[in-house]
Amino acid sequence: MKIVIFGPPGSGKGTYASLLKNRLGIPHISTGDLVREEIRNGTDLGSEIKKYSDAGQLVPDEVITEILKKRLLLDISKGFILEGYPRSIEQARQLESITKIDVVINLNVPDRVIVERLSTRIQCKSCGAIYNERTLRPKTAGKCDRCGGELFKRADDQPDVILERLRIYKETSAPVIDYYRTRKLLKEITNDDPNVSPEIVGDRILNLI
Ligand SMILES: [Zn+2]
Repeated sequence: MKIVIFGPPGSGKGTYASLLKNRLGIPHISTGDLVREEIRNGTDLGSEIKKYSDAGQLVPDEVITEILKKRLLLDISKGFILEGYPRSIEQARQLESITKIDVVINLNVPDRVIVERLSTRIQCKSCGAIYNERTLRPKTAGKCDRCGGELFKRADDQPDVILERLRIYKETSAPVIDYYRTRKLLKEITNDDPNVSPEIVGDRILNLI
């Protein structure tokens, strides 16, 4: 099954995507991860991206599509769960020309829930793993389960910064979500409880698709 997942920053979509990856046995493709990988591996695309990000500019659509195309040429016979793409109608059309999407999940999470969740979010300094002081506690307080690294709170997880990020997300994602709605591919899921465990939301998504 080929799935696209949408959700505002802080909605937990990365966590749900990796849950679905495990339950459905399909790869989780995150354009954010792909971009970081290209940079880390020092590829031609990676150095092109670095030029934009060093200049504080957004990476153009075509470059992101190029990176995604490269990944989609690898094994996707069982399907995938795609996160972070498409971000524009143009990208949605490009994706359509590469492969056929079966279902698009749209996570609706109220702003106040996101603000609450992000302000309790903690992250590993070494490997970047995400935890939450309420819903996803590490086994030992302040320490990463995966690598033992130190956990910290991100400086940009402040309510006013979060609300601005949400405003930008809504503005840019609305046309793309509409695009899939008119194609009858959209499945809506609402989560208005900041303390619900990721597994429960994962189950609800699985029941929906
Ligand atoms: Zn870690």
